[in-house]
Amino acid sequence: MRFYVDEDLCTGCGICEEMCPEVFQVDEEGICRVISEDECEEHDLYEIAEECPAEAIIIEEEE
Ligand code: SF4
Repeated sequence: MRFYVDEDLCTGCGICEEMCPEVFQVDEEGICRVISEDECEEHDLYEIAEECPAEAIIIEEEE
């Protein structure tokens, strides 16, 4: 599985960072960055993507 944040969609709300700061971090420009490719320990990535109001967390399944 590959995942990334679509910078054009992200509003920098910080919900993903609150849910999983080990993976997501909003930078000084107000755009969320993926700082680790590891999966979140407490939350499922799909759950975090669901919570993103901008639908900016894109998950790609590998074939
Ligand atoms: S939850 Fe979505 S819109 Fe909010 S900071 Fe994260 S990626 Fe950006």
